[in-house]
Amino acid sequence: MNDKQLEKFREILLKKRNDLQDEIKDISEGEIQSSLLESSGGLSGYPDDPGNVAGDNFEKAKDIDILEMLTNKLEEVQEALEKIDSGSYGTCEVCSKTIPQSRLKAKPSAKLCVNCKKDSE
Ligand SMILES: [Zn+2]
Repeated sequence: MNDKQLEKFREILLKKRNDLQDEIKDISEGEIQSSLLESSGGLSGYPDDPGNVAGDNFEKAKDIDILEMLTNKLEEVQEALEKIDSGSYGTCEVCSKTIPQSRLKAKPSAKLCVNCKKDSE
């Protein structure tokens, strides 16, 4: 891969990193707000409606799942960016073959070639 192509992937990855960081921030701030609301509700002394509590917990569990997924993706993107800096971007971590650019375009943070990915699943 030449420098120009690498720069293009770096741009894509940097944009992806920004997007992911924004999403993570949005969800984390939502979490803080809802836990603040909960603690103030607790002080009022009124018992919570059990229906609402179940709904809240469900929403929260979903948020945590999404947050975990986003954090994993962010780590992958970060690793790919470090690889661009170290010159190993686009090389399969298992067989050391070049990952085809068509695959990198579909998944810029790919660490394995299609064959090794198949084997690891
Ligand atoms: Zn491979």
